[in-house]
Amino acid sequence: MRKKLVAGNWKMNLPAHFKVRVNDNIDVVLFVPFTHITECLSDYPVILGAQNLYPGFNGAFTGEVSAGMIRNAGAEYVLVGHSERRSIFGEANELINKKVKSAIDGSLRPLLCVGETLEEREKGITMNVISEQIKIGLNEVDDIDIEKVIIAYEPVWAIGTGKTATSAQAEEICKAIRELISEMYSSEVADDIRILYGGSVNGKNAKEIFSMPNIDGGLVGGASLNNEFNEVIKGAV
Ligand code: PEP
Repeated sequence: MRKKLVAGNWKMNLPAHFKVRVNDNIDVVLFVPFTHITECLSDYPVILGAQNLYPGFNGAFTGEVSAGMIRNAGAEYVLVGHSERRSIFGEANELINKKVKSAIDGSLRPLLCVGETLEEREKGITMNVISEQIKIGLNEVDDIDIEKVIIAYEPVWAIGTGKTATSAQAEEICKAIRELISEMYSSEVADDIRILYGGSVNGKNAKEIFSMPNIDGGLVGGASLNNEFNEVIKGAV
């Protein structure tokens, strides 16, 4: 039985200070700016994550932060391959793969984000794009390490736009991702891996989306910045 996971991505924002109400039946993770990991550890009763990492141990990489540094700050998760990193910072699947492996080597759980643009959806190549993102993103991640990975299906056209995928659209792709994981690994791995949906999830639509059989929770941007996040969490309980 997969435990539901609700994750908030604060991006480069600090939220209005609010009380997150957690529940033993689900995991709640907050992906906060690097500079706020330590403070949030004492302020929020949740698991902490970082929003990025550099795939190196240490060295001359000005401005970058390694998995070990993130772990030392107290975070347990890291976002990899978010669409904003892909589009604004030009991150390709090969770099994302290095980040996934570096996160695992540094004892972090990578949350690998994948998803198609509107143009790709309209061309009918959604699963081609996502298969490539997953196959390259998880290259050389073995049957043991895959247990540490979480996947988030985030259609780019739904992120920050208020245009949520319907629960049927989200389920269709999350199911296809699970089938792909079964082909790449095994049916046991596919049964265990958590696949989240992200893209304009809010307090009103969370319950319906999270009730779909292949959706194990959500990655939430805007609605994680205030008390609405508690309504999203309730949708997974
Ligand atoms: C995100 O940043 O991953 C995201 C899904 O944002 P939003 O919920 O605001 O669409």
